Amino acid sequence: MLTLILGPMCSGKSLDLIHFFSKLNYTDRSFKIIQPSANIRDENLQTRQGASLPSIKINSLSEIEKFAMVEYLGLDEVHMFETTTIREARRSLKPILRLLNRGVKIFVSGLDLNYQGKMFNIVQALFELGPNEVKMKNSVCVKCQNMDAAYSQVLNQKGKPITRNLPPILPDDGTYLYEPRCRRCFVRPSD
Ligand SMILES: [Zn+2]
Repeated sequence: MLTLILGPMCSGKSLDLIHFFSKLNYTDRSFKIIQPSANIRDENLQTRQGASLPSIKINSLSEIEKFAMVEYLGLDEVHMFETTTIREARRSLKPILRLLNRGVKIFVSGLDLNYQGKMFNIVQALFELGPNEVKMKNSVCVKCQNMDAAYSQVLNQKGKPITRNLPPILPDDGTYLYEPRCRRCFVRPSD
């Protein structure tokens, strides 16, 4: 079983993951939550509201096979495993496919759209695995306060949107600023 929880920044994706996995604490089911080590913001899986669960950091999706013995696996911030091509993305998801085939229930959360409003390769490849459930989350648009923000605008330190020439994986260390925006306020590349 594969569940995807997708949406822009600040849309409560991690909160959904924590909500589900914290219930498993009261069962005898085995579970693990993993995060990319590129996510330097938190030690644990943590929401902006302060809830948290212990998580394990991995450098690459190939490390996921270590967790083949658990019943439930949570993978947060999957966009941090973005690849340059869709082909690479499909290949990097093979360990996830093997776990699914063994019966592990996998919950993946992350951004679905990049700074240009395009779907991440890694997310497209996840859709190709035929998810059983996809939850699309929205955030509040910083510009107009509408509650249907689906995009994450990346801004430079002067607050100007960057729409070109960024690497596939962006650091979360303060180099760039991020704003959830709706489709009316999101600034796209000009072509
Ligand atoms: Zn807006």
